[in-house]
Amino acid sequence: MRKYFILLLAMLFVLPANVSAQGDTLNIVTTTTQATDLARILTDGVENVEITPLMGAGVDPHLYLPTSSDIEAMNEADMVIYSGLHLEGQFDAVFEALGEQDVIVYALSQPVKDAGFIIGAFDPEEEVLGADDPHFWFDPRNWEITALDLAETLSELDPDNAGTYLANAEAYVEQLQVLYEWADTGMRAVPGQQRYLVTSHDAFQYFGAAFGWRMAAIQGISTEDEAGVGDIQNTVDFVITNEIPVLFVESSIPPDTIEAVVEAVEADGGEVRVGVRELYGDAMGEPGTFGGTYVGMLATNVYTILQSYQCAGEDVTIPQWPEDLTPVPDEDLLNPDCDA
Ligand SMILES: [Zn+2]
Repeated sequence: MRKYFILLLAMLFVLPANVSAQGDTLNIVTTTTQATDLARILTDGVENVEITPLMGAGVDPHLYLPTSSDIEAMNEADMVIYSGLHLEGQFDAVFEALGEQDVIVYALSQPVKDAGFIIGAFDPEEEVLGADDPHFWFDPRNWEITALDLAETLSELDPDNAGTYLANAEAYVEQLQVLYEWADTGMRAVPGQQRYLVTSHDAFQYFGAAFGWRMAAIQGISTEDEAGVGDIQNTVDFVITNEIPVLFVESSIPPDTIEAVVEAVEADGGEVRVGVRELYGDAMGEPGTFGGTYVGMLATNVYTILQSYQCAGEDVTIPQWPEDLTPVPDEDLLNPDCDA
C-alpha cells in the first residue's frame, strides 16, 4: 500500500499540470458504490468529468472479479478511485499493473490510515487485532477525512476546478457532521448493556466504534471465509448469554448463516428476531434511492437497528431527521412492519 502511495506521489509530478486546460475529459473509474457516490458529490458542477462505476448495488467487493471491460476502463482512465485495504480482494494484481502506467490509483482509505484511524480486524479466536479492517467508511468521521483528501487530490490534478472540488467537500463535510450527530444520538438511546450488533460478517466494527456499540460477527473480516459450525454455535451461545433481542442480515451477504443461528437459538428455548430489514454492508442501495447515497445508507442502518429494537419491545427513541440533512428518508423507511 505504501508503495502505491509513493508511486502515486511520484506520478503527480510527471502529470500535465492542468488536465482541463487541454480540453480533455477527466476520466475517473470508481470501484465500490461508496467511491462512486463520493466522486459524484465532489465533482458536482465540474464539466468534462466522466465517472465510470464498476460495482453496482448489492455487489460484494471482497469477491467481485474485475471483468475485461472493467480492466479496459481502468487502463483508459486518468484516475482509479478504490476503497483499499484489500476490500477489493480480486483487484490487487490489476492495481499493481495500473501503478506502472500513467494512471493515478487512489485509495480512499489511505488518508484515514495516515491519520491513524484504521483499526485492526478483530479475531475472536485469538482475541487480538490482526490485519487492517477495510470497512473504515462506516465511521462518518473517517469519511470526512476521505472527502477532504480526495478533493485536494482532484484539485491538484485539475487546478482550474479546485475551487469547486474544495467547496463541494466543505459543504459535504458539514452534512456528514450533522449525520454523525443524529446517528450518535439515536444509537446511544439504546442502553449500554444492550448495544450489541450481531451480523453475518464483520463489516460494522467502525460503525460500532463510532457510536459506542460492540460487535459480534459470525464470520471473520472477509466474506471469502465461510462460517463454520463452530462459529454458529459460538454465536448462539453469545446471543443467549447476553439476551440479544435482534440479529441482522446485510445486503451483500446470503442470509443462511443468520437463519441457522435463529433456528439454533429457538431450539435452545431462546427468543431472537431478525432485523426489520437488511443492513447495508459493503454495498449501498440502487442509485437514485435514499440507500443509494452514503448519507442514506448509513441512516438506513441506524433506522433499521433502532426500529428492530423497538419491534423487539425495547424502549428506544429515534431522533427526528435533521432539517438541513439531505436526502430525506421516505415514509416506508420511517414506518417499518414489525411482523414482516
Ligand atoms: Zn466486508
